[in-house]
Amino acid sequence: MLTENEINEVFESSQSYLQLMKEADKITRARHGDYITLERAIFLSWYCSLASCAFCYMSAHGSRVDREKAKRAPWRILAEAELCRRAGWNIEFLSSGYGALEKQEIKEIAEMIVYTTHKAVWLNIGVLDEDELSFFGEEVEGITGSIETLDSGIRSKIVPGKPVKPIRDMLINAKSQGFKTGITIILGLGENLEAISNLLNFIDENDVDRVIFYSLNPHEGTEFENRVSPASLYHSRVVAITRVSFPDIKIISGTWADQLPGIGMNLLAGANGITKFPLFSMFGNHLGKRVEQETKLANRKLLGTFSDWKVLKGEKELEEDRNPYALFNSRVPAVSRRAGERVEYFRPRIDKAVEEYIARAEEKSRRSKYSI
Ligand code: SF4
Repeated sequence: MLTENEINEVFESSQSYLQLMKEADKITRARHGDYITLERAIFLSWYCSLASCAFCYMSAHGSRVDREKAKRAPWRILAEAELCRRAGWNIEFLSSGYGALEKQEIKEIAEMIVYTTHKAVWLNIGVLDEDELSFFGEEVEGITGSIETLDSGIRSKIVPGKPVKPIRDMLINAKSQGFKTGITIILGLGENLEAISNLLNFIDENDVDRVIFYSLNPHEGTEFENRVSPASLYHSRVVAITRVSFPDIKIISGTWADQLPGIGMNLLAGANGITKFPLFSMFGNHLGKRVEQETKLANRKLLGTFSDWKVLKGEKELEEDRNPYALFNSRVPAVSRRAGERVEYFRPRIDKAVEEYIARAEEKSRRSKYSI
């Protein structure tokens, strides 16, 4: 694990940075191979009872959102899951704001997704206590704590409703109940280098399995709207420091569609997966193609597709050696019979929603100057 002095050195010396990148690349290949997954969070609701995180668009209007109306229709969620399965995109986690759904509703959706994809899901739905965690079974693989930043100077101002302790307690409880655990970190909130040391300590002390790094997306209406996303050389430094410190954890790195040139460096720095792409705006155009090129030139193999319409339309299956659902196929989690029955009941509406999503993606691709 890198010390504070070594972290400082990586930021003060380009040679130290390049040396670290070399090490991170070597470790990643040795421990994880050269596969890169495409990850996509599936949102369950647009409601959040906190609505207070300074960077989040929900903080601008979330408290005015009606909890019931903000819930997404199950067939739309399942349509998205079906498209992820077809295109070989991993479902990063099921996501909602705090207090958006009852645990029974979340379990039902998770089970229906497992029925659709044959793969357990991760959750990122706020803090769950011991009893709430025990409500979930093998349909859930892992629990995510949205830590966001570990800079003690800015944390209480940026995420006033999310103290670290309850999140940490949840992760410890989740581990003891057999779930994997992960955290999300947003880079570019104004954090100092101490936050990176704190992050390494947090991963170490809590035996975290997966870290997801996002770069700040300056949302209109938030105090960050005039800020810029962090430089790729910052983002990749943090990823590389984390990779070298924890060779075996999974790292997912999120870059927005306007930051695509940073992807290659994030992969060399040790990311196993990339996320935060608007699938329906990028499929089949120059943006999706750019992701594929960045991955190729980082000498990695991208699983899934950003460009094969036949795969997205279900006219052909993704090749097995590009399909994470086939390649990393573990035992299919058992789900209740009711979950399967509900999916079949929703089937006509799921199919209609799938067609709508594909039509939207095709329309965006047609309008793109560089459709492929
Ligand atoms: S808890 Fe999540 S959804 Fe709610 S305001 Fe914070 S970041 Fe946004």
